[in-house]
Amino acid sequence: MRYEIVTFGCQMNEADSGLMAALLDHAGWEPAGSRDDPDLVVINTCAVREKPEQKVFSLLGHLRRRQEGRPGMVIVVAGCMAQAQGEALVKRAGNVDAVVGTRCFHQIAEVAARVRSGEKCIVLTGLEGDPAAVRCRAALGHGRAPLRALVPIIQGCTSYCTYCVVPYVRGAEISREPGDVLDELRDLVRRGTREVTLLGQNVLAYGRDLPPEPPTTFDLLLSLLDRLEGLWRIRFTTCHPRDVTDALIRQMADLGKVCEHIHLPIQAGTDELLTQMNRGYTTRQYRQLVDRLRAEVPGLAVTTDIMVGFPGETEDDFERSLRLYAGISFDAAFTFAYSPRPGTAAAQRSDQVPPKVRLERLHRLIEAQNRITQERNQAQLGAVVEVLVEGRAERGEGLLAGKTRANKQVVFPGDPSLAGSLVRVRLTEAELWGFRGELAAVAGGSRE
Ligand code: SAH
Ligand code: SF4
Repeated sequence: MRYEIVTFGCQMNEADSGLMAALLDHAGWEPAGSRDDPDLVVINTCAVREKPEQKVFSLLGHLRRRQEGRPGMVIVVAGCMAQAQGEALVKRAGNVDAVVGTRCFHQIAEVAARVRSGEKCIVLTGLEGDPAAVRCRAALGHGRAPLRALVPIIQGCTSYCTYCVVPYVRGAEISREPGDVLDELRDLVRRGTREVTLLGQNVLAYGRDLPPEPPTTFDLLLSLLDRLEGLWRIRFTTCHPRDVTDALIRQMADLGKVCEHIHLPIQAGTDELLTQMNRGYTTRQYRQLVDRLRAEVPGLAVTTDIMVGFPGETEDDFERSLRLYAGISFDAAFTFAYSPRPGTAAAQRSDQVPPKVRLERLHRLIEAQNRITQERNQAQLGAVVEVLVEGRAERGEGLLAGKTRANKQVVFPGDPSLAGSLVRVRLTEAELWGFRGELAAVAGGSRE
């Protein structure tokens, strides 16, 4: 019995898919090879914008044709779109056997077994928050763990930004106990992980839902994990700018394993738009925050998410925003055209920006940011930086690839036996995606 998991969306979905794979392995399923027709297809979906939703429907259409040659192939739709649409999705698609929402995916193996025994139209979308969904991970470890692991520490969101569907599909925040996170990391490190990315819709809300005594905060979690022997690098994403504290900045400056990178979504570049989005900070507060972070954490890379075409955004708003972004000079940005999401406050507004205008602004924004990214990379040429080698580069004979502490991609000629090691690389050419370089020294640390 073979399964395949197709993942859309963010790193949290990637982590959830990893957990579903581990649970299916545990239950006796095997991953399908690229040429096999699987007995079970799990589609882990995203609902943040319309486009990934459309992709799910075209994938379902494609799978319908494959099912004709393989009756009995089970299709389960999981994740945020499953949560948002529930039974309606089963009705609309016609070939979906089960829907598993964001707080039920730990039941994946059981659902697959129920469908195979003949049950139809299973819909699990409770949001009561079964903590087992996030806490059963640590128990699953076996075999080699990835060099770089994704570890969710909190899921859910109650910020209610007016454009965003996440609070409706991921529910209220649930944090994992610090001891539980530490156990999972110890297990991962024992099996070869050297870098972790802690995940949450807003990692800075970590611990607020846990009992007040003893206090549990994100910065305390960082100091706990920083002491873990065998772990080399700690990253985290995403940070809501409103929740960055002095304590966090201090930990970023002081803790040796915490990497010099912060992903700090700004979303919009005028105070009016930020208020209408319910973001909880002004452009001035955001700028001051970035200035402080850069002053206190040398070498810090600041990346962001930016949305264009929010309802009511004028050409003037857009141009002012571009100037603000140029002044801040982000290392990189994920850029999006606003997509109205059913059930959100912004979707109900009558002053929607026409889709064509949204796209045209998106292209201008991408062009402007590309210039900035290129310039910032150019300014680092000649520097010698630490790179964690992931292995052979996808393209280019004899090249290795890895990331700097600031999360920039670097490729350089080197021996494949360096995979899993920390090396020092001189940056020789700047590209939009990162750097080309040459090996300067082997820094120490080897995974074995
Ligand atoms: N929790 C994260 C964001 C999660 S969604 C945060 O608060 O920053 C990832 C990104 O998708 C957001 O930062 C936003 O830029 C974008 N996004 C969210 N809703 C969107 C929508 N309705 N249309 C377009 N982009 C959206
Ligand atoms: Fe969405 Fe805002 Fe929550 Fe991020 S903080 S997940 S953008 S509601």
